[in-house]
Amino acid sequence: MAWYPGATKYELQPESDQQPEIRPTQFIAHSIIAPWTAKRVYEYWRDSTNLESHFGLGYEGDLGQFIGTETRADANYRANLRPDGTGAVSIETASNLEGSDPWTPAQVERLIELGVWLHRTHGIPLRICRTASDPGFGYHRLHADWAKDGTDCPGDARVRQFTEVVFPGIVARATNPPPASGGEVPNYVNLGLKTPMPLPPGGGFTSVVFENEWSDTAGDHVPNGSVAVRGPASFTGSLSLTVSDLPPGEVVQVRMSEYDGGTWKADHPTHDVAGTGGVTTAVVPLVKRLGPGRGMRVRLSNQAGQPVTVVGAVLTALVFKES
Ligand SMILES: [Zn+2]
Repeated sequence: MAWYPGATKYELQPESDQQPEIRPTQFIAHSIIAPWTAKRVYEYWRDSTNLESHFGLGYEGDLGQFIGTETRADANYRANLRPDGTGAVSIETASNLEGSDPWTPAQVERLIELGVWLHRTHGIPLRICRTASDPGFGYHRLHADWAKDGTDCPGDARVRQFTEVVFPGIVARATNPPPASGGEVPNYVNLGLKTPMPLPPGGGFTSVVFENEWSDTAGDHVPNGSVAVRGPASFTGSLSLTVSDLPPGEVVQVRMSEYDGGTWKADHPTHDVAGTGGVTTAVVPLVKRLGPGRGMRVRLSNQAGQPVTVVGAVLTALVFKES
């Protein structure tokens, strides 16, 4: 038996254990001719009748499931369980006492979600049932074999909604799923030097000033500014560094530092770039999370005994803004 994770489980006994299995091939919608919550529908099935549906849906979108979808329920006459073992999944929906009102927006949304789940879970095909036994989606009065003595259920307004909104909504959402969560497009920042940056000996840390801005979709970098990313955000990227005149074995250190405006707040660990003589190149990873109000700068320190020149510093990062 299958239980829809989007519904509250109000299991009906003994029906849930004792009624025969079905292979669900249809989904049939009803109006219950009462303004009931899903829980009240459950109580009615439990206390007053043994003709039940699989699901109940209140005006507010409260959805209850009473019987697994691979067990027979009794709302659809000959569609409940056919001789070939197939059957219909049924839902009773809250309505006024005349069965004349339309589904609320919350009911429409839940009907669509449930329809998509039934399509994915049981392979119910995305079509309106062409005959009483044809696999697909329908409403109670659509086929005479689904109601013992004939019925107007679920009412004209809801038949129109089913045809124009609910069923097309199931098809659209089942075939064009929304992007998975986390599928947001990150911001992109790409900055660099315009003029070489002399780095005197002595070990002090100097912020890299990024005069070139090739991309900055988050707008975190100001013209000729040092800050590349502003919090709250997390980011991942790299700094590609080119240094001339750094002797073999000597080191330029790279570190990320957090500032609040112009005020230094925190340093992160240093990364050593070892000289190779001539032109030294290195790529330094930049991955960090920044709190609100913090700006990230890259700072360099020349540990060698002689001046060196940073001829290239290209920062490239994907930035995920947090709220
Ligand atoms: Zn009905």
